[in-house]
This record gives sequence, C-alpha cells and structure tokens, in this order.
Amino acid sequence: MSGRPHEGLDRRDFMFASIATVGASAALAVSTGAAAAQDTASASAGPSSGTVYTGDVIQGKKVVSALDVNDLEPGKKHFLYFQGVEMPSGQHWYVSVTVAKGANPGKRGVLTSGVHGDEMSSIHAVVTVMNQLDPAQMSGTVMAVTDVARPAVESMQRRWPNSGRGIDLVDMNRVWPGNENDIAAASRHAGLLFNRLLRPNADFAIDFHTGTTGFEVAAFNIAEMDVPEIKAMAELYPVGQIFDNPTYPNVLHNAFNAAGIPSFCPEIGAARHLDPEMIALFVEGTMNVLKHHGIVAGPMGRTGKDVAVFVGNSAFPILASAGGIVEHLVKLNDKVEAGQKIAIQRNGFGEVVAEYASGVAGEVTGQRSDAMSEPGNPLVFILFNQSAPGTEDYPE
Ligand SMILES: [Zn+2]
Repeated sequence: MSGRPHEGLDRRDFMFASIATVGASAALAVSTGAAAAQDTASASAGPSSGTVYTGDVIQGKKVVSALDVNDLEPGKKHFLYFQGVEMPSGQHWYVSVTVAKGANPGKRGVLTSGVHGDEMSSIHAVVTVMNQLDPAQMSGTVMAVTDVARPAVESMQRRWPNSGRGIDLVDMNRVWPGNENDIAAASRHAGLLFNRLLRPNADFAIDFHTGTTGFEVAAFNIAEMDVPEIKAMAELYPVGQIFDNPTYPNVLHNAFNAAGIPSFCPEIGAARHLDPEMIALFVEGTMNVLKHHGIVAGPMGRTGKDVAVFVGNSAFPILASAGGIVEHLVKLNDKVEAGQKIAIQRNGFGEVVAEYASGVAGEVTGQRSDAMSEPGNPLVFILFNQSAPGTEDYPE
C-alpha cells in the first residue's frame, strides 16, 4: 500500500514550557511561551528511489540504503540491514530491519526501538511482536527497526558517542527528523533513517522506550489524546497510565506526527534489563493496534479499559535538594495526595538530610532507581492533570 492517509495531523500546537522547581516540593511553574511552529508539511511524498541494495551482505543479511516495503515479496518475513551513517573508520553503522510483509495488501506499521541504547525492554517488546506475526495471514506490513542508535546500543548506554570534538554524547531522541547534511553524525544517521527507511514505509508508527539508567518508570504511553488516530491506538494497551502531553518537538514519535503519520511512545519500565511482565502488556497492546488497523485478524486482547487507565497531562518532578541515599516511601503507580511525603534522604551518619513531598495529587509514574543522588537529580515524577499542560521534562 502506498501513500499516507493524511498530510499533517489535526493536532494542537506544541507549547514550549519550562519547569522551575525550588527544593523538593515547589510549585510547578509552567511558562507557556510562543507556540512553536510545527512544520506540518514535511518533505516530499513516499519513497522516491524505491529499494536500493548496496550489494553488501552481512552475516547473511542483505544491506539496503533505501527501502520501499512495496518492493518486497508478500507473504514472508525479510531480514535486512539498513546502512546508516559512516563511522570515523569509514565503515557504516548498520541497523537491524525486520519486515513482515503480509500476503494481502493493507496498512503499513513501523515499530522502532533502541533510540536510546540502554532501553532493552523496548527492543525485546518489538522483537516479540515480530516473532508472533505470520505474514501468510496478514493484510498489510509491519516493519521493525530495533537498534536505531546502534553505537549507543553496543555499549548499552543512553546516548550516541559522537566524535566530532572529542567524544560528545548525543541524545538521539532530540534530533529527529535528523538532517543528512548536518555537522553531527548522529543527526545524519537520523536523517538517513527517517528519509529512506522510516517515513516512507509508515502509515502509523510506534517508538518504544523505557526509563533511563538510574530512573525507572511505570508502564505508560506518551500520546497526544486530542488526535483521534493516536488516542485510538494508545487506549488499546492494558497499561495503567497515559501521559497526554506533546513532550519535546524533536523526539522520533513527534517527527512522525509532524510528517502526518500518527505516532506515540510506549514506556516499558526500567533501563538495562528486561521486564517480562511489563513487556507482555505492551506486546498485547501492540497486537491490538495491528488488529485495529486490520493487519492482523483475531479478537482484541485486554485494553486500557480493562485496567482503568489513568490519563494525566503533566508530570510533576521532585528534584533532590541534597546529596545522599534515597529512600522511597511510595511505589510506581501509587496514588498520592498533594503534600504527601514520598521520599527521604539520609547522609552517611544516617541522619535525614531531606524530606520530599508531592506538590500535586496524581500517580507515581517514575522513580530514581539508583540509591545515591546528588542535588538536582529527579527523584520522582508524579503524573497529574492541570488546566494548561506544557512541554515538560518527563521520564523516558
Ligand atoms: Zn528512551
């Protein structure tokens, strides 16, 4: 199937905001600045050059530098490497591409993971979905790209090591849609992937993440619930929370949205290790999404309705005001009241050096999992609702 169903989604403008916190439980000060102009008309229509095979084969997998899934044989799975940006040595970073091309035509879904290199449950959720697909029974196509920030994945760290001025660590989820001619390799890599692999093959897209090293999160989706196509997908996950917020403009799922491709971002627990129970919830939800789009047949599994999903539009950060060992008094998904004490911190004498309370009523959506903290680190995020949400710090 070709073409995108819509150019530019009907969506609210991104609002930039900043968060000021003083000490532990200060009020959340959101200053909404000018609405950022969102380029809805992004470059060009679908694949212009079709699939380009470089002629290379790596460990039995053919290498492509551009892909149009319409070119692939229907009714089977295809395993390819996509040729990303060059390393300083002149070799390339390759990313793993799995395409389940249905026997019958239909919508095209794109699943991505590994935009942050330490988020292993995101990769495992995507490969588990792909392993469950039988292309002979499918109407449409699902493409998975599991190790987007390849050098970050190699060292299981959040950021891409860019060697421009000595090693800089680049957050790959702040550079989309990338630029093939940028001064930084990570942005070039993003541009190559977005222009030649991801956007041309997507009618909808899901970018899987987890919490980050040292900070774990509950199972939730980041999704703009005022966009009907996005809301319909996000509600199909049997997970307890939805963060209804535009977040940062240059995250991958927002680059898809700006290109007219409905997209959202599942968050699957802690970084660096697998959470099988949580992964299973996101696999079930993603299979529901594929059924929703008619790609996979069969009855819906459990959805957000079955778990009484809590939708909040803001994340209240509690930042450490001291150094010391953190003791949490609440757990992920706990409901908290404004003023409720949620964590304390002790020094090396065992003395309590700081106490932290929530400034809002909501649900715990993220917690520092590293026991030590220095001042300024986020200790807890509380998912809550306020009348005018902004673009906020959030756990991903
Ligand atoms: Zn992430």
